[in-house]
Amino acid sequence: MSGLTSRKNAITEITNRAPKSCKTPEPLNKIWASDVFGLAAMEEALSKNAFKAIKKTVQTGAPLDTATADVVAAAMKDWAIAKGVKFFSHIFYPMTNITAEKHDGFIITNSDGGAITEFTGSLLIKGEPDGSSFPNGSLRMTNAARGYTAWDPTSPAYVMKTANGATLMIPSVFMSWTGEALDKKIPLLRSNKAMDKAAQKVLSLMGETEIATLNSSCGAEQEYFLVDEHFANARPDLLLAGRTLFGAAPAKGQQFDDHYFGAIPARVQVFMQDFEDKLYRMGIPAKTHHNEVAPGQFEIAPYFEAANVAADHQQLLMTLMKSTAKEHGFLCLLHEKPFAGVNGSGKHVNWSVGNATQGNLLDPGSTPHDNLNFLLFCGAVIRGVHKYGPLLRAVIASAANDHRLGANEAPPAILSVYLGTQLESVFNDIKEGKLLEKAKGGLMDLGLSQILSFERDPGDRNRTSPFAFTGNRFEFRAVGSSQSVSGPLVAMNTMLADSLTWIADKLEAVLDKGEDKTAAVITVLQELMEEHGNVIFGGDGYSSEWHKAAVEERGLKNIPTTADALPAFKEESVVKLFESTGVLSPAELASRFEVYAEQYILSIEVEAKLVVGMASTRIYPATIEYLDSLSSTATNLSKLNITISHNSIDEIAAETDAMMAAVRKLKEAIEVEEFDSVEAHLNYCADTLCPLMLEVRTHADALELVVSDDLWPLPKYQEMLFIK
Ligand code: ADP
Ligand code: MG
Repeated sequence: MSGLTSRKNAITEITNRAPKSCKTPEPLNKIWASDVFGLAAMEEALSKNAFKAIKKTVQTGAPLDTATADVVAAAMKDWAIAKGVKFFSHIFYPMTNITAEKHDGFIITNSDGGAITEFTGSLLIKGEPDGSSFPNGSLRMTNAARGYTAWDPTSPAYVMKTANGATLMIPSVFMSWTGEALDKKIPLLRSNKAMDKAAQKVLSLMGETEIATLNSSCGAEQEYFLVDEHFANARPDLLLAGRTLFGAAPAKGQQFDDHYFGAIPARVQVFMQDFEDKLYRMGIPAKTHHNEVAPGQFEIAPYFEAANVAADHQQLLMTLMKSTAKEHGFLCLLHEKPFAGVNGSGKHVNWSVGNATQGNLLDPGSTPHDNLNFLLFCGAVIRGVHKYGPLLRAVIASAANDHRLGANEAPPAILSVYLGTQLESVFNDIKEGKLLEKAKGGLMDLGLSQILSFERDPGDRNRTSPFAFTGNRFEFRAVGSSQSVSGPLVAMNTMLADSLTWIADKLEAVLDKGEDKTAAVITVLQELMEEHGNVIFGGDGYSSEWHKAAVEERGLKNIPTTADALPAFKEESVVKLFESTGVLSPAELASRFEVYAEQYILSIEVEAKLVVGMASTRIYPATIEYLDSLSSTATNLSKLNITISHNSIDEIAAETDAMMAAVRKLKEAIEVEEFDSVEAHLNYCADTLCPLMLEVRTHADALELVVSDDLWPLPKYQEMLFIK
């Protein structure tokens, strides 16, 4: 079928399509976490002693003894089989942002030829998926390619039901034979530990006597697009690259802002309800959903959870979102920029740290003492973002996210911190020594919780900042919509651990001199602000003045592309950061650079090949056919002595030629294979392949606006963006 026929068929199909019928939703208390083997299910299934042991492991990460593991495994198997499960899988998260699973049956046969089900503690705890084809960034030699998965009991097992059956899923870490982290979960668990250790030091210096284990929390707001599958099937770029590589801007896009928070289209509403039902069954607390800024764009935000669980849930959410969309006749696009000129999708990662005894340490609290703890933790974040800004940029770098960060769209590729007017002025007063005077005069009550509560109103927030304080947490707004939240969480926890250690050392020294706590805190923060206060910015992050001032006056880095960003993983300060906190060894860190660089190069190469293919085999034939029909019409008219100017025909011919000339250049450029270094290859993609792709596109998009609509082979933006 030619592209043209499929576009026309798609339009007919979609015009006649009705939403899937909407099932009456089941009450939340009936379905909530019903497919999760969490503490509630374990309590029901286990003896008192076994439950006590596993609860301790779940809540504190304490090791699980073999006897308890056997009992838990058997109970888990019975629970799962009662739900129709025959297979189990250790589910894990390789460095490539994806979710991986390998399924095994519970079946074992005996010598009589009979078969029984069995699931032992050792099977539960350890799997051997091999998985030698996952990129490992040189961490595994081919002769020692085996990879191991191990259950992470702090993230509950669950049953995944699809039309093809049900599987018991066991969230796991993934490591090499030598114990090196091949995944995104191990560093996250280690970063929580590092943060806890450093925070404990600070809190005990602050006179806290009872300090429970600290953990980080994450609430991720996920943006996405839905496109009708009939259109998507007619667009190889959407299917293979997740974004449109061609497409002229429609006359009407998002300029009226009439989509944002508007009425959700019926088909989408039915999809959302179905999707959220599934999330609830999996124990994922979906809380908010609404239309986003662009037509066809939506958002879902679950309630925040412990970072480790939230990260697993985020991966599951993305998987379920795509599969459920398919059932509703949509292609769900998690790409950061599916449509040029239209708002892209991000994932706002809301992050805080806290524990059961001190509560959320990024919440100011109501006593002067709470305020001091808060100021220290907030100061630690400020220092972290300033010192490790390039690392934060590197962990969100991808070919797709470059279209948002490096381009003229939110948020900028310069990492700064937004605090809000009140808190910013508190930190400025600290910097200028105003608060030290007050502190030395006696106990100082800043009343932070009262003054900051005014700024919690989301309407008042700075939406142009990549990293914003939002009342009781920080919101990392520059994360890409398709990315795992683990990378950003690891970077934030680790930089916090480093800053808290720095603070603890300074604080200890000042306290040793006999300074009282309030004055000591302000003294340390004053030094911190002098060195790092430059990263605080409350103005318009999109403005060109900021882009200039940030770099020239403040010495912050503007890092527009992934090629520029990834080398941060090799910087000495970053290697030291990860090594000293025990989060990633130098080899593990180096492997991340390799894997992310390879991912970037591969995505650009796939796109470049698609551009060549689509321009040559779809767009060129359509424009030539149009030129042919125009010229024969002109010839026929001239026989009747009717002459029309050739100008338009000439223009289309010239544009077509220019497009094909650019295609030839791109084709040649793709063939270059020899590079001196990975960095050189990255730069080649960013500086040569990307501009050439854009050159082809510019001509093709110009043609889309002049070639007869009847002949155009690709569904157009205006058709795809407005869901019927
Ligand atoms: P918006 O940023 O659009 O105002 P919400 O107020 O709904 O959105 O919150 C966004 C996300 O932040 C939600 O997932 C919410 O659960 C999460 N969140 C709220 N408080 C915290 C916290 N202390 N730590 C981490 N995430 C949080
Ligand atoms: Mg938000």
